[in-house]
Formats: sequence, structure tokens, C-alpha cells
Amino acid sequence: MANIILLTQKKNINIAEKMYNHSFCILSNQEDIFSYCKENTTDAIIVDTVKMENAVNICRSVKFGTQAQNIPIILIVDKKTQNKDFLKYGSAYVSTPIDSDLLTATINSVLLTKNSNDELSKNITDLSTNLYRLNLLNNTLTMLAGSLNKRELIEKMTDGIEKSLNFQLCYSLVFNDPTDITLYIQSLHPISTRLEEAIKFRAMLSYKELFNIHTSKEEFKVIKKIKRPNDFEYDLNVFNFDTAFAPVNVINKFFGIIEVFRENELKTDDINAFQTLVKQATLSLQSAVLYEEIKEQNDKLAEVEQKKSEYVSIIQHELKTPLSTIQNVAKILLSGTIPGVPDKALWFAKMIERNGDKLLSLIQALLDSSKLESGKFDYNFTVADINPIAEFIKQNLSNLAAEKNINFVLEKTDKLPLLYIDTGRTEQVINNLVSNAIKYTPDNGNISISTGIMDSFELKQRPFSENTDRVIADEYVIVKVSDNGPGIAKEDISRIFEKFEQVKSSLSRSVGGTGLGLYIAKEIAKAHNGFLWLESVVGQGSDFYFALPVLTVDEQLDMQLKQDISNADIEKKSFRVITLCENKTQEEPYLVDFIKKLDSDNVFKKTADSKYFYTETKERLYYTFYDVNMNIQIFNFVVQRIMDFAKKDDIINKGKKIYFSKVCYPDDGGAAEELIKKSKKMLKEVING
Ligand code: ADP
Repeated sequence: MANIILLTQKKNINIAEKMYNHSFCILSNQEDIFSYCKENTTDAIIVDTVKMENAVNICRSVKFGTQAQNIPIILIVDKKTQNKDFLKYGSAYVSTPIDSDLLTATINSVLLTKNSNDELSKNITDLSTNLYRLNLLNNTLTMLAGSLNKRELIEKMTDGIEKSLNFQLCYSLVFNDPTDITLYIQSLHPISTRLEEAIKFRAMLSYKELFNIHTSKEEFKVIKKIKRPNDFEYDLNVFNFDTAFAPVNVINKFFGIIEVFRENELKTDDINAFQTLVKQATLSLQSAVLYEEIKEQNDKLAEVEQKKSEYVSIIQHELKTPLSTIQNVAKILLSGTIPGVPDKALWFAKMIERNGDKLLSLIQALLDSSKLESGKFDYNFTVADINPIAEFIKQNLSNLAAEKNINFVLEKTDKLPLLYIDTGRTEQVINNLVSNAIKYTPDNGNISISTGIMDSFELKQRPFSENTDRVIADEYVIVKVSDNGPGIAKEDISRIFEKFEQVKSSLSRSVGGTGLGLYIAKEIAKAHNGFLWLESVVGQGSDFYFALPVLTVDEQLDMQLKQDISNADIEKKSFRVITLCENKTQEEPYLVDFIKKLDSDNVFKKTADSKYFYTETKERLYYTFYDVNMNIQIFNFVVQRIMDFAKKDDIINKGKKIYFSKVCYPDDGGAAEELIKKSKKMLKEVING
């Protein structure tokens, strides 16, 4: 049954009487229609225009006055009014004399159309609300994904829920631990003190019910965000609003709760949107919590690392210093400068010196190994010949070999190519190989050191266990240390290059040692882009090979750069390249090639945290800086390194000009420009003395 208004100025109202199945309200004035419609749901309006004065105006006024409610209008017309202009104000019309069946059919059809329209418009409204929500959800999710800050995430979640639900008030309680609880309140209006207290109490109660932990609301930190701070205050009446509540669990642990209050009823869709947002925020919070945990672990690790390196320097100081004193005393006694020292005492002094040496090399091995682990094992590369190093070792260890009556020879190949090496570290490797040979070769044995050259093809055929991809140079200078000692079994060969590994024989135990020497030697070889391997036959002896690459100037620069970066110990940062040099047209291609080469090089990729690189032509030395965010200490360090390099290679005296790269990124706020200005000033000072 529909509710229909009949607007008529006639006394005769028999139209309504003919329609028993609808309820009629008969009005004679159009103004009454508006007030009636406000109070009652109206399904249709019938306007009887027959004998109505000013029918056009009345119809127009009824049409526009009820437009908002979308009520269909049926006009009753006679022959005079039919087809007149005002017919456009009706959804349908019926002519007099009225046929009751036709009128009923017309009313029914109009009502049916209205129902369909109402449903359609409701669907459209729902659809657009859902679209809006979806869009909002998407935006909120994108925002949530971009943050790892817990507080920011809570705020973004609350903002998303607010836009989606239009709530009046929302609070979220975030629990880190019983002593660190924060209550975030987001409200449209200011809230009364009473309400704030009540919210705290409510939050605490929900929290206690859930977790049964004793805590007091005075311990909450409260953060409030009020949208309209000058409006009237909300009071306890907020609790009469509709509410939605959700606990937030992060990685199966209670994280907090969230509750929203809305004056209008919260529908199923609203609750769904609320749940989705809370769920998504929970996922992002999980990432944030995990990130915090990892960061904490990393900080702890860095602390342990720091302690370890402090410990190592304590060892260095506390053990090495007194040991050196003991060694010195023994040396003075042995030097013969003190008269009257009995032979027996000299024998003891010799023992002290020997064992002191052993202890010192043991301490040194431990220190080196610890430095290798913490990346603090530094190198100082220079251009050098291998033969003098081999000669020096031969000379140094001859006495030791003579004590065992070992036939000890050096077979040099003259005119070997120059290498780019740390001479001290290279010496350390060869020294270790020869000392081992002397240690493990029986009396009257044979030991030889030989130097030579090997091409990359032959090198790749050799049985070193490493990836042959590391063979980068065409030629390698080789130092080979051979002995006719016990040899090393196949299964032990790869093991002995590992930390603390020794061949399990009584010999290893009796001669002593740490099992660190070959491990350190191998790491040094790697840092030189070189190789260390062993070829041995048990019972016949061992051949240790130490191969060092013969590098081009560019390769030497790469290596120096890599080393500088690792020495600089600069923390990883995103970096940008600031290119290039002063005269773009001429110089750029060369540098661009250089950059490309570096970029495609694995070694370089590993050092993507580098701050600069340099390259050289006949007249010029170019420096290109990375990372305009570099702070002043790092900057000073970089310039200092450049100056060391320039001075060491006598670049300035050779008349070479040093060029600093030009800034290409306009968005660095002039920071790089500033750095370069400073660097030029520093350079001038250095050049002028
Ligand atoms: P250390 O000599 O201090 O024990 P290294 O790392 O220098 O440590 O050597 C590891 C092990 O390799 C030695 O303990 C020994 O067993 C074996 N080794 C090294 N050089 C030789 C060699 N020339 N002949 C036989 N065994 C050797």
C-alpha cells in the first residue's frame, strides 16, 4: 500500500474512493504538500488540474518543492489542459473522465518506476561510497607501506579510519611495555577533562581485561589531536555513540587497542573498512617492530664489535709492551756489551729471545686475524719489485735454516714486471711460507724460494680451489716456496688455509703454531687480487705458490680506490655521482668510459658506498666525488687522501693540474659546490706550503 497525496480544489473527491488499496491524504493547497512530505513518506502526488486556477504554476511549484525526495507526480487533466506546457511537470497524466482501472494502472506503473529508481540511486550511492573507501584504503595502505615509524603508522591508520568512517572520536592505546604506554586521542571537538579521564579508564579496562597486567592510568603518556579546537567540548555523552573496537596484535604479541566513536550508526560496511585498515596497519606495524628489533640487534653487534676492537688494542698494548721489554733485555745480554755474563746466562737469554719471538708472532697473528674480521686490516699499495722482497726474506731466515742444516736457495727471475702491492704485507706472506717450510722440513732438507712469471691461461689450470673468475690480469708474478718436507695430504690442503686449522700430526703439535698463518696469508693474497695455493705429494714435499697480478695503471687505480674506501670505513649511504670535469666536450668521454667500467665491475659494486674516485691523464688528475651528503670529516678525509696520493706520486711537482669534478645535480642545495670550493682552497694551501 502506497501513501499518496491528492491535491485537488474540488469538493468531489471520488478519485480517492476508487482506490481502496492505497492510503490518500487529500490537500487543497500546495504549501501543505511540503510540510506533509517533510513529516511523512510520500510515494506519489496526484494533482487534479481540472478547474484549478493557475495550474501551471502550481504544478511547477509542486515539482520543484518535492524534487529532493524524487516523488513522482501524476496529473489529472481535462480536454482543455491536455497537451499544455505544464504536462512536463508530471511523470504521467490521466484524462477525464477518469477510468479507475487506468488510474490504478498509472499509479502502479509510476510507483514501480519510483522503486526501481530509488534502488538504482541507492546502488549508485553505495557504489560511490565503496569506490571512495577503496580509494581511501589504497591511499592509506600506500602511506602505511612507506613508514617504519610506529607512531607515524598509528597516526596514518587513525587518519585513514577517520576519512573512511567520519568518526567523532578515536583513541588508540599503544603498549610497548608496562612502563611505556601511550594513548593517542583523535577527536573532532575538544574533550572535557572528565571524558579524558574516562577514556583512559576505559582503555585501561579493555587492556586489563585482555592482559590482566597491573598498571595505572597515570602512567599513560597522552597525545591528543583535536580537529576543531575552538568548538564545544565533548563530554561523557560520547559513550552513547556507536563504537567499533579492535585489539592490535603484532607478531602474536599484544601491541595495543583502538576504538572509534561515531554519532551515526556504524554499518557492516563501516566495520569492514575499520577491520581492513586495522589489519593492514598491523602488518605495517609488524615490519616496524621487526625493523626496530633488527636495528637493536645491529646496534648491539656494533657495540660488541667496538668492545672487541678495544679488547684487541688492550692485548696489543698490555702484552706486546712488556714482551718487547723482555726481548730488549735479552738482546742487550746477548750483544756482549755487558762484561762478565756467564755462558749459562747467555744460553738462557737466547732461550728468552727465541720464545719471546714465538710469543710475539703468536700475538701478531691473533691481532691480524681480529683485524681481518673487523675489516681493519689496512694496506698501503705502492709500485714495487718482488725480487728484493724475496732476497730480504732469504737473508733474514738463513740463520734459522742453517740451524737445521737446510740447503736454502733463492732462484730469481730477473726483470720481472713491477707490481702494485703492499710490500710489508707481501713480505708477511712469503715470510710465513718460508718459516713454515723451515719449521716442517726435517734437518738436512732442501728449501727453495723462486720468483717467476705465469700467464693467466696456465694459472687457471693450477689446482687452486677458488673461482677462476677472479683471474683478472693477463700475467702474474709468482713466488714459489718449495721444500722436501713431509708434504700435505689432499684432504688437508683446503683445510689448512682456514682459520686455526693444522694438519693433525704430531709434527704440527711439536713445532707449535696457531694455525692462523696461512689463513692470514690467503686473505692478503686476495686483497692483492692474487692467489695462494699448494701443490704437494705426501712424503715428497710441498710447493706453495703466491701469485700477484701484473696490473695496468687503471687497474692499479681501481685497487687503490677500493682500498681507500675500505680504509675510510665510511658507512653505507645512498650516493650520487657528481660529474664531471671542467671541459665537458673534451674530457667527458674518457671519464664516462671510466665510470662505466667501474660500474660494470663487481669490485666497484661492492664498494658502492664510495665517496670519490680519481683517474689520471698525462696532464691532469681528476677527482669525482660521490654522495653530496658527505659530512665535513669525511670530506676532509677524502681531500687528505687525495693530497697524500698527489704528494706521494709527485703529481703536483710533475706539473699536473688537479681537477675536482663539477656538480651536475641542482637539487643538492649547493652543498657539493661548497665542498669543491673548500677543496680547492685546501689544495692551494697545501701547494703553497
Ligand atoms: P701454523 O704453522 O702456525 O700452525 P699455518 O696456518 O701457517 O699455521 O699452517 C697451517 C698448517 O699447515 C700447519 O700447522 C701445518 O700442519 C701445515 N703446513 C704449513 N706449511 C707446511 C709445510 N711447508 N709442510 C708441511 N705442512 C705444512
